[in-house]
Amino acid sequence: MKKTTTKLADGRELLYFDADETAVRDAPDLRPLEPVTALSEIRRDPVTGDHVTVAAHRQGRTYLPPPDECPLCPSRDGRLSEIPAADYEVAVFENRFPSLARDAAAHVPGRPGPLFDLAPGAGRCEVVCFTADHDASFADLSEERARVVLDAWTDRTAALSALPGIEQVYCFENRGAEIGVTLPHPHGQIYAFPFVPPRTSRITARAAEHREAFGRNLFDDVVAAELADPVRVVIAGRHWTAFVPFAARWPYEVHLYPNRRVPDLTGLSEDERAEFPGLYLDLLRRFDRLFDGAGPTPYIAAWHQAPAAHRDELALHLELFTIRRAAGKLKYLAGVESGMDAFVNDVSPEGAAERLRAVGR
Ligand SMILES: [Zn+2]
Repeated sequence: MKKTTTKLADGRELLYFDADETAVRDAPDLRPLEPVTALSEIRRDPVTGDHVTVAAHRQGRTYLPPPDECPLCPSRDGRLSEIPAADYEVAVFENRFPSLARDAAAHVPGRPGPLFDLAPGAGRCEVVCFTADHDASFADLSEERARVVLDAWTDRTAALSALPGIEQVYCFENRGAEIGVTLPHPHGQIYAFPFVPPRTSRITARAAEHREAFGRNLFDDVVAAELADPVRVVIAGRHWTAFVPFAARWPYEVHLYPNRRVPDLTGLSEDERAEFPGLYLDLLRRFDRLFDGAGPTPYIAAWHQAPAAHRDELALHLELFTIRRAAGKLKYLAGVESGMDAFVNDVSPEGAAERLRAVGR
């Protein structure tokens, strides 16, 4: 894989990842862009302990632009986008409207006091474009291209983890307007958090309790238990296992683990990396076959990687889920979920696994 590192007109970093070793990506960014200062701060809720990012400058960001103004398409025919090259395989760049940025400035006047913990949102947000084809989706990619994306995620995990103050690197994709995607061009994002996000905090606390009670790793035990009684297993690969979790929160939810526990994407072996693209594309295509005639299934694909402080216990895995529960029906986070973080799922996890097995090819 060839990696080309360059800069956009306002100083943001842009990287190209190409399977084609002869690719030349040297087109300069000709736009007259002023640097954007991120007014972003991280507040800690004194009651729950959860971190909340307040990024008031993002209200003006690009929202559902017409296709001929897509900022993620290559720059062609005199139309300049975020990607100066006339074509690309995978491109990664710093978000122009980041929730977190290295030079973020907090904007609270005065000193907030001991109860109110506050820090500048000093992290980093990147955009990952999976293809130059505006109308494609991840499920349409070739295995070779999905492998380039995996390699790009891995490269960014290594690079962003090495930045000072970064606690966790989170690679994810939201697909579908129903999820709140503001740009239809196939892309994902990466957040480099300067704190441990709430879900990871809860998971690492559970892993510590499990270690205390049983002397073993929580994730090793979960994957072994799912394989021992595979009623919720969707795909049992050579190096990866995909299953619906025992207490799935979403109508269709699959967790994908490498069978050998590693803390993050940088720990995967060549054999594990080689199997991932076919297996993940298979899962995404099953999701798209779940609802007859309802169009592409909206989904969130979330990589869980070990935070800097818990590299020995948390296992790399991908959590893939849709908010669609039936054709034309979405699962909304209503009073019980939004108000109490208590999920009510209308689809049994075992039934969801059976259905996901049935729509395989
Ligand atoms: Zn586009």
